[in-house]
Amino acid sequence: MKIVVGHLYPDYLNIYADRGNIAVLERRARWRGIGFDYRTIGLGEAVRPGEHDLYYVGGGQDREQALVAQDLEAKGQPLREAVDRGAAFLAVCGGYQLLGRFYRDRSGAELPGIGLLPHHTVAGDRRMIGDVLLECELDPGERRTLAGFENHAGRTYLDEGAEPLGRVLAGFGNNGEDGFEGCRLRAAVGTYLHGPLLPRNPWLADWLTARAVAHRTGAMPELEPLPDEFEDSAQRVSAERARARGGRF
Ligand code: GLN
Repeated sequence: MKIVVGHLYPDYLNIYADRGNIAVLERRARWRGIGFDYRTIGLGEAVRPGEHDLYYVGGGQDREQALVAQDLEAKGQPLREAVDRGAAFLAVCGGYQLLGRFYRDRSGAELPGIGLLPHHTVAGDRRMIGDVLLECELDPGERRTLAGFENHAGRTYLDEGAEPLGRVLAGFGNNGEDGFEGCRLRAAVGTYLHGPLLPRNPWLADWLTARAVAHRTGAMPELEPLPDEFEDSAQRVSAERARARGGRF
């Protein structure tokens, strides 16, 4: 059994070691005997719903976002259809912003988004930088924490009724105002958390991988637990830093 992973714009949207998320997804899949068919999706390359089980897009400066925004907009319909049909998606920071309706950068220029996630983003004057800690409940009754690092000028506002990824325990989150971070729609997750995110939050890597397998096989797998002592201690350190200083300009 294998999963097919589509990495959007790895040459443009890849700051703060976001590529590390792919390494975690690949390693944890292979440790469980799940094949990992990694494919990049660049400028001008087509997206065919059903081909990929899991999409990934990283973060980037305004300049890099502007270089891919039009091309991503042209991929909008097949990506929305792919998520409607159950494909998983992890989008980080600049990539997360472009999955919404638009990103208005500090110059006032409006970059089109693909409207996959129900939100919009407007850049503010002061960057929101620092360690972040969230409380999430992606599955009813299963509360978990996510720890990472944020660095963004964009303030993201979720639509009425939209589901955030989590509640901010420490840090700025989407906009430093409403106490929420990220956005989730079916198996698509958007977040401002860099770090990279997944090495210190392996449960989210497993959550995405299980849905990618379900997309390919039609059945939600029971992934065998892995010995995550290192990962858990990395999250503890990150969480302590966030509690100590997260969310302050
Ligand atoms: N350029 C966007 C912003 O400043 C995203 C930054 C990022 O991906 N870290 O908000």
